[in-house]
Amino acid sequence: MSSTVILGSGIIGVSTAYYLSDHQPASSIHLVESAPELFSSASGYAGGFLAKDWFRPAVAPLGALSFDLHRQLAEENGGREKWGYSRTTCISYAVSAVDKASQKRGDDWLRDGTSRAETAPAVLDDSSGMAPTWLRRVSGDQVELISEDGTTAQVDPLQLCQFLLQECLKRGVRLHHPAAAVSVSTDVRNELSSIRIADSRSSTETDLPCTRLIITAGAWSGRVFESLFRHSQLRLPISSLAGHSVVLTSPRWHKELEDKGCHAIYTAHTSGYCPEIFSRLGGQIYLAGLNSSAVPLPDTAGQSKIDSAAIASLKAMASELLGPEVGEDDLETVREGLCFRPVTASGTPIVSRIPDRHLGVGMTTRPGADGGVFIAAGHGPWGISMSLGTGKVLAEMAQGRPLSADCTPTASTPSLMLPSATEPDQAMVVLPEVLAYEAGVFIVKTAKKVWKLEESFLREWTIIRLLL
Ligand SMILES: Cc1cc2nc3c(=O)[nH]c(=O)nc-3n(C[C@H](O)[C@H](O)[C@H](O)COP(=O)(O)OP(=O)(O)OC[C@H]3O[C@@H](n4cnc5c(N)ncnc54)[C@H](O)[C@@H]3O)c2cc1C
Repeated sequence: MSSTVILGSGIIGVSTAYYLSDHQPASSIHLVESAPELFSSASGYAGGFLAKDWFRPAVAPLGALSFDLHRQLAEENGGREKWGYSRTTCISYAVSAVDKASQKRGDDWLRDGTSRAETAPAVLDDSSGMAPTWLRRVSGDQVELISEDGTTAQVDPLQLCQFLLQECLKRGVRLHHPAAAVSVSTDVRNELSSIRIADSRSSTETDLPCTRLIITAGAWSGRVFESLFRHSQLRLPISSLAGHSVVLTSPRWHKELEDKGCHAIYTAHTSGYCPEIFSRLGGQIYLAGLNSSAVPLPDTAGQSKIDSAAIASLKAMASELLGPEVGEDDLETVREGLCFRPVTASGTPIVSRIPDRHLGVGMTTRPGADGGVFIAAGHGPWGISMSLGTGKVLAEMAQGRPLSADCTPTASTPSLMLPSATEPDQAMVVLPEVLAYEAGVFIVKTAKKVWKLEESFLREWTIIRLLL
């Protein structure tokens, strides 16, 4: 029987464990988490905004599947009460005529590579009843509706993570925490057979049976892979983008207003960054948008020091946009945060089995659904939205079942799994297998097809070359 070890218990890890446990004994699934505090990573500090169709073609099926799974999970398990699942009205807010004239919108970076509707969005006036009453309006500003009905929603990601983990544990999934994997071992056939886990509190080490290894360690995924597969030449192209956030309460956002619905506000502010503001069920308002790739990823989640200047800037923004009057501030801070998005250069996550020959000399895995080393990471600003879909598809991939989201290239989405000639800037969701390379031409194999790709077509060709 396959024994599965999942390294990293953020939202991608717990979603994967949840869907795996639908189809294999839960006791054969082990979740390993290295941080002393559970969900002290991006999954616990994110905004929780969910979209159905804001994604570039390569990941559109995964995004749409995930959005539907969020609704289904919430309907079947009381998600509104347990993790604040709520349909959400999404608006673009321009503070001044200058912002409007620039034609920039705060949601632009999230839709990078997608086509936002070119038709002018509907301007909401106060009589529409759809604009948030907790936003301080100023003369000359503008509120525009940018979501189609029922295509955006919201969760409290920390509560969703906690729910998924509790469900996994109830079913019998084993959690090892705080603990980290130290090494992997093989059997007489050189196939992956066990993994050594070190418990950080007791300093004891345990060997867990492991024929299937899944890396869901967010921004740490590359480090985890390299530390376990030391002879591998593969470098997973995943880096980090830090983001500060604050959670607030406001007297103008309270329970009586919740029935009218939550809001997500994106604004291209003159301050130089794009604040994202979400009113959540439970009377809280989440504000983020101050991001930096210069903040180094710590060894362990939760170790980084929050930058007080960044928090002060977010609070000043909150005061300006949500305060009662200029210079007045009646907002209470509930939580301050700093966490790290796992990002890829291409902007699409990697959800894949890693071909055995990239595991290094002397290391293979059981063939087919009995074994394998898998990776699901690099979801950037969309890991909460895509979590359930990723967990489901990865579980299906690992267990050898048909995939619920089509991850195969088609005529309309030729770049779903790998860079293509027509859309060279869209990288793979599933790592292709490189069969040969000669004189600037790659022969690449995906699940259903062998591709011949000229190097000159590929802006992302370095990623493929890493796999050689
Ligand atoms: C400010 C901010 C706002 C965001 N808002 C949204 C939003 O509104 N909507 C949305 O969809 N997404 C949002 N995101 C993105 C989202 O948070 C991430 O894409 C998502 O949480 C990534 O999940 P993950 O499980 O891959 O990684 P993580 O949440 O980082 O989890 C990885 C886990 O692996 C653990 N780990 C690391 N090394 C090891 C090891 N050696 N062994 C075991 N475990 C290990 C870590 O401790 C961590 O718990 C936001 C992100 C930020 C920073």
